[in-house]
Amino acid sequence: MREFGYRRAVDVPGAVALLGADPEARFLGGGTNLVDLMKSGVERPALLVDVRELPLDRIEVTQDGGLRIGATVTNSDLAAHPEVRRRYPALAQAVLAGASGQLRNMATVGGNLLQRTRCGYFTDLAAPCNKRAPGSGCSAVEGEHHNHAILGASAHCVAVHPSDMGVALAAFDAVVSYETADGPGELALDAFYLPVGDTPHRETALPPGALITAVTLPPAPVAALSRYRKVRERASYAFAIGSIAAALDVRDGAVHEVRLAFGAVASRPWRARTAERALTGGPVSADAFAAAADAELAAAEALPHNGYKVTLMRNLVVAVLTELAEEAAR
Ligand SMILES: Cc1cc2nc3c(=O)[nH]c(=O)nc-3n(C[C@H](O)[C@H](O)[C@H](O)COP(=O)(O)OP(=O)(O)OC[C@H]3O[C@@H](n4cnc5c(N)ncnc54)[C@H](O)[C@@H]3O)c2cc1C
Ligand code: SF4
Repeated sequence: MREFGYRRAVDVPGAVALLGADPEARFLGGGTNLVDLMKSGVERPALLVDVRELPLDRIEVTQDGGLRIGATVTNSDLAAHPEVRRRYPALAQAVLAGASGQLRNMATVGGNLLQRTRCGYFTDLAAPCNKRAPGSGCSAVEGEHHNHAILGASAHCVAVHPSDMGVALAAFDAVVSYETADGPGELALDAFYLPVGDTPHRETALPPGALITAVTLPPAPVAALSRYRKVRERASYAFAIGSIAAALDVRDGAVHEVRLAFGAVASRPWRARTAERALTGGPVSADAFAAAADAELAAAEALPHNGYKVTLMRNLVVAVLTELAEEAAR
């Protein structure tokens, strides 16, 4: 492991200035992903700027009835917050579905959004990997890819984003706020993660050196009846092979509003807008849910060993929407 410096930032301008002064510096949240990558040699920062003492650790109800979540709020505090559990239950469930209690106590909201892929070739320095070493090739396309992307990938990279939390944030139209030396900025989650294209090493639209300061959820009454379901290869302490965040509002026997986002199928949390459009205003039935899932998944491009994800996601859509519809009818 390369030697590195460590500084603890106490205010936002100071944190941004420290990072800007050293092109090889990185922000340190809980360190649960970055430090592992440093140990494997994938990340080799010269300086870590610890952001955990910054005054960004609060969750506040906004004036319009949404939530503003500070970037250094831990995953544990986020999942336990009464307003998160009441207004956006799928978000609390998604966070609790991730990692372990100890990791969630350390991991932060900002770090969770920026965690890197779990593709095994990304952390294997001997393997070609366009994301780690641009232009070197993608070992997964012809290699081990049973948990890789079926949507929105490219021949240059088929890795998936591993975050559970991000899937619920995508369903609820989260907006990421950041600070740079040139001032603050905002990115809707849809625009936050870049398309893979031929630049899989460029993962987000954050300007260089930007510090994530908060994530804001606009008010979404539909989110009060929402659910996160994660499928994984063992019962706990494992990343998703497919997941879904769903919310449903049924009125007069028809779908008034629906939110759907998929996890572990693309390089970013995948908002299933085609399925949402197909469902809105239509009947509340398993057939309608399946048809909407098929419409979304028509764009899927499976590799030889991950085609099961198409069926898995279709079944998840039907199962979770059916459960929500039954709950709405009670
Ligand atoms: C064994 C294990 C199992 C896991 N299982 C799951 C799982 O099932 N589901 C899941 O979703 N996650 C899982 N995780 C991942 C975990 O959720 C992430 O590691 C964690 O959320 C990252 O947050 P952090 O604060 O520790 O980030 P760090 O490791 O500190 O940082 C990650 C990245 O974010 C950057 N960063 C951090 N904060 C900021 C900021 N405010 N502004 C700008 N950049 C910032 C860092 O520079 C770094 O590039 C698991 C991790 C481990 C080790
Ligand atoms: S899928 Fe992406 S991360 Fe994995 S080897 Fe290919 S380029 Fe690297």
